[in-house]
Amino acid sequence: MKTENMPKIELHVHLDGSVRPETIMELLPNTKEEDIKGASENLKDYLKKFDIPLKIMQTKENLERIAKELAEDLKKDNVIYAEIRFAPMKHLEEGLTPNEVVDSVLNGLKKVDIKTNLILCLMRGADFSSNLEVVNLALKYLDNGVCGLDLAGDESTYKTRDYKEFFEIAKDNDIPFTIHAGEAAGVESINAAIDMGAKRIGHGISCLEDKDTLKRIIDEKIVLEVCPTSNTHTGAVLKYQKHPIYNLYKKGVLVTVNTDNRTVSDITLTKEYSKLIENFGILKEAFINMNKTAIKNSFLKQMEKADLLEKYEEIENNTLE
Ligand SMILES: [Zn+2]
Repeated sequence: MKTENMPKIELHVHLDGSVRPETIMELLPNTKEEDIKGASENLKDYLKKFDIPLKIMQTKENLERIAKELAEDLKKDNVIYAEIRFAPMKHLEEGLTPNEVVDSVLNGLKKVDIKTNLILCLMRGADFSSNLEVVNLALKYLDNGVCGLDLAGDESTYKTRDYKEFFEIAKDNDIPFTIHAGEAAGVESINAAIDMGAKRIGHGISCLEDKDTLKRIIDEKIVLEVCPTSNTHTGAVLKYQKHPIYNLYKKGVLVTVNTDNRTVSDITLTKEYSKLIENFGILKEAFINMNKTAIKNSFLKQMEKADLLEKYEEIENNTLE
């Protein structure tokens, strides 16, 4: 099966982790490749690789360019719908306002013919007021380029439960959300995210450590946004061959395949699908199921989901082996 030709859905990709290396090198010529990509020992060290791209993501022009380039890369990867996430408050260092940041990213995405939406990330460890501003920003742009919220950052230091009140506001205002949990922390973090109302979890792979949590994820139809290569780069999984994604799928967990960070983890969905086939013998039918899971649990409106599902099936049926 030719993975590049398969239509794909991407629900979990970070803008700042997916800046083209050529663009970083052009704008910051002294950058070393190892400083922006590759494996780390833990999530904390992995997150340091975002410091360099963030330096060039502080102007309207660069944000627009970087968003446009990511949209082009997604299109090349045969992604037909993507939910791109980023933390707007990390782009205010040179005087942009949060509105200008979001507008610039949306302007860049609009230049490419691909369906996308933004997920705005609250940050673990950020000030209360700064996270609250992100919730308000999502509310302002909801259905106008923004489809939801996320909680990102260092899960090993900052507990998921401490961010509960932001997601209460999100629920009250019908803002869909996903939460990074069960990547660098255990099932306690996953359960907190589900208790807080998350229907989608970023990673969540540590749910296999506890059968009650696993059962809960299956029973409550919680969707995991799984990012296999990234998990080996943050040390969440020691070896690709040991990644639990196929095991989770076979147990009945709703899993989706995602890249997380296309540059930091040097990955595309085409490459990820190929690695999954190579290491686990995953069949085409499973990829189709996972992509349909992604469409049904995207943050799109019901009508848009139905249209996208139809489009996906049409392309899938016409894809040559
Ligand atoms: Zn992530």
